[in-house]
Amino acid sequence: MHDILPEESPYWEKVRQIVFELGQFYDFGFIQTPILEMQGIFERTLGLSSDVVEKEMYTLKTKGGDELALRPEITAPIMRAYIQHGWAAAPQPVKIFYLGPVFRHENPQAGRFRQFHQFGFETLGSEDPVVDAQLIQLAMALLGDLGVKGLICEVNSLGDKLCRIKYRAALKDYFRYHIKKMCHNCQHRFKHNPLRILDCKEEKCREAIAKAPQILDFICDDCRSHFKKLLEFLDELNIPYLLNPHLVRGLDYYSRTVFEIYAEDRRSAQAALISGGRYDGLAELLGAKNVPACGFAGGIERVIAEMKEVKARVPQRPQPKIFLVQLGDLAKKKSLKILEEFREHGILMAESVSRHSIRSQMNIADKLGVKLALILGQKEALDNEIIIRDMAAGMQETIPLAKLIAEVKKRLKS
Ligand SMILES: [Zn+2]
Ligand SMILES: [Zn+2]
Repeated sequence: MHDILPEESPYWEKVRQIVFELGQFYDFGFIQTPILEMQGIFERTLGLSSDVVEKEMYTLKTKGGDELALRPEITAPIMRAYIQHGWAAAPQPVKIFYLGPVFRHENPQAGRFRQFHQFGFETLGSEDPVVDAQLIQLAMALLGDLGVKGLICEVNSLGDKLCRIKYRAALKDYFRYHIKKMCHNCQHRFKHNPLRILDCKEEKCREAIAKAPQILDFICDDCRSHFKKLLEFLDELNIPYLLNPHLVRGLDYYSRTVFEIYAEDRRSAQAALISGGRYDGLAELLGAKNVPACGFAGGIERVIAEMKEVKARVPQRPQPKIFLVQLGDLAKKKSLKILEEFREHGILMAESVSRHSIRSQMNIADKLGVKLALILGQKEALDNEIIIRDMAAGMQETIPLAKLIAEVKKRLKS
């Protein structure tokens, strides 16, 4: 888990700004769910054999005996909210976006954090493939607006529950003859979740995986037509995409569409910036009626790393053009008041009210490269006056405090 230091904040502000801009434009409502949820929310939806639940979830037992989990993702909590607040009665689809921390106990490695942050967009209550297409469009636009270049979307269909039963059986039949030579993880997945084998990055497993049966040969006519329509939308939108028959995503709740978005030069590193898909069966896993839904999440730390890589522009903090120098107790007292007056007038001002020496304060003013220094000495404080010094010209003038704001405004304009 890591601290996000002040120097990082321009990136975080930029991500937040773009996420909210797109959320507003596409008419999504912002939600903040609790960081703790009942453990069952994730066990039932992500699947007991998913890596997240099996190895990565932080869980705790309260004194009252409740079993809670630090949320490892935010899609299941949003479906929980949909059910809990009776959103099925609202006009469909319900469109929701979020931004916040998630927690996974992963092995330490560069760029991976155990507390990291995600933004995400979810459209609940529609099975229309146009929803999937719009979410992919939104995801591409979001990364584009953040300055990430060369984006490509990998896409696949996992079919629905019924298609997947047939596919699982076919995969088991196929891998039965290869599994002995494959990695330890794959042997485990073979027993519990053979689809996940397709995800394996181990060299010794790749060959067998490359020749494995492909899901698209097993999906039913409805699922096929859903996928075909999605691709037609993507074509129409000119979104660069690649069919990846081995894209399965690690979680049980996905059905039909799955996608991952990469910056193209780094696709080999398997680091998707955004990933998502359709999860029509998730509501039922939570014991509610069927709610078809689709969404995506992006890892903010990973996106920011990419923004730095491509030297994306982020807004810098505005630099003050004025520095307030003070000397003595009375001047110090008046300084805080002057600062507040400048804030009310929307004029940015730097200060160092905790310092005593004029020279050290003038040094700071020099370093900041301000246009004006305002000097409030003991005498000026007593006479309700202040010195304005033009730093470049080295000229200074004493004026009544009451005229300070007007004088500063005039000089900043010229
Ligand atoms: Zn493997
Ligand atoms: Zn199907």
